[in-house]
Amino acid sequence: MSESKTVAIIGAGPVGLAAAAHVLERGMTPILLEAGPEPSHAVRQWQHVQLFSPWEYNVDKAAERLLSSIGWNSPDPHVYPTGAELLERYLDPLARKTVLKDVIRTSSRVTAVSRLGFDKAKTRGREKAPFEIRYQNGKGPETLRADAVIDASGTWSSPNPAGASGLSAIGEREAQTKISYAMPDVLGKDRARFAGKTVAVLGAGHSAVGTLTDLTTLAQQVPGTKVVWLLRGNDPAKAFGGGANDKLVARGELGAHFASLVASGKVKVEAEFQVGSISSTDEGLRVSTGSGCCGRRVIVDELIVATGFRPDLSFLSEIRLRLDPAIEAPVALAPLIDPNEHSCGTVRPHGARELVQDDPGFYLAGIKSYGRAPTFLMITGYEQVRSIAADIAGDREAAERVELELPETGVCTRGGVEGDDAASGCCGGPAPAAVNACCMTGADAKAIGKTGCGCS
Ligand SMILES: Cc1cc2nc3c(=O)[nH]c(=O)nc-3n(C[C@H](O)[C@H](O)[C@H](O)COP(=O)(O)OP(=O)(O)OC[C@H]3O[C@@H](n4cnc5c(N)ncnc54)[C@H](O)[C@@H]3O)c2cc1C
Repeated sequence: MSESKTVAIIGAGPVGLAAAAHVLERGMTPILLEAGPEPSHAVRQWQHVQLFSPWEYNVDKAAERLLSSIGWNSPDPHVYPTGAELLERYLDPLARKTVLKDVIRTSSRVTAVSRLGFDKAKTRGREKAPFEIRYQNGKGPETLRADAVIDASGTWSSPNPAGASGLSAIGEREAQTKISYAMPDVLGKDRARFAGKTVAVLGAGHSAVGTLTDLTTLAQQVPGTKVVWLLRGNDPAKAFGGGANDKLVARGELGAHFASLVASGKVKVEAEFQVGSISSTDEGLRVSTGSGCCGRRVIVDELIVATGFRPDLSFLSEIRLRLDPAIEAPVALAPLIDPNEHSCGTVRPHGARELVQDDPGFYLAGIKSYGRAPTFLMITGYEQVRSIAADIAGDREAAERVELELPETGVCTRGGVEGDDAASGCCGGPAPAAVNACCMTGADAKAIGKTGCGCS
């Protein structure tokens, strides 16, 4: 039944590549459209970063089977790779040496997805119409038809702006030459830009913590380098993570090390700093709260904005999407990952049922499926696309089945929304599949009528 199906996959990152492997295994035809000049273009931008998940959580099973067929030398499951090693040891061989090389179209940016002959408002017969995918590949506009679409295009290219209200701060666009987003390679290729400068980092997630840590190393190597941490909240400790309680050891260590850097004064902390405006002055870049005239301000040479990412939904305007209005994730998934409720990284495994949209055959997958929530893990994405490929192939039983045991990344941020239990690593592992909770403690709390992750 599934043999003739063509599945368009948007994005050749870790999850898009895994999706293609699962689609192939099911006897269907994948076509992978990748905007960048090479597969895994987004990972290439952060290849200097040390991953906090070891190899055992970074390799998809169907991808591994494809690689085995070409005599792949699998890495030690307990070692933590860098982004560069993830590319070199896994993603590049998968994309360039297996049969996937014949189904990837690079430099192909998807610009629109629709159902052939049906605008968004037209219903009768809609579900039978193939998808029409438009993309640009430098030669001109191209069109592709497919029976199903998996959008695994990530969020890397749409970082959140500096402005505390979700909009660009006043003057942010004009000051672009002094602003970087996400995780520049401050110790490597971008070193000259930051060495000997006063650099502010805005944000309190793992990217901000990683960049601040690297900047303190740069400050040791290059005199005159000064590091300023701008955070919107009032409690720096929330960024330190679960420390020894974190089941992802490398992530726990990063947080603990960062806490010691802050305590030693190597990072100047500006808490409750809600950026309102940015302007270039003779003294340097002026980053201010409020509109600039009367708020607090810091003067720096460079600003790094590490305030997370949001999904680019612009090319999906003709697809019937059902997304949570706050998190911009599929409605069935959003309550499990809502950062207002959970700082836990654990989410129960989920798949096609949660990810399919109101246009049957269209699925969001990978980090894009998490919308604005920051806790996505590759291994979660691999389970998503295993289930989605089964669903497209008509194998409902396999689509519903849970084949993944997620690592217990359920560590609550100390002093975070989960409350006092957090200090002892409150989450207690993943919640049972039937319970809408981020972790076991949350499930227990719900069972006795409380809300949230074990909080009162
Ligand atoms: C710095 C950093 C460190 C991380 N560390 C870890 C970790 O240790 N462990 C872990 O499990 N997860 C980690 N993650 C989270 C996550 O697993 C990764 O971001 C992962 O790369 C997500 O895979 P993806 O395939 O969903 O998206 P991406 O890797 O972002 O891939 C999406 C692809 O789609 C392409 N694309 C975008 N728009 C279009 C378009 N319109 N048309 C065609 N192609 C398009 C992009 O060029 C890109 O290649 C990390 C993320 C970051 C940013």
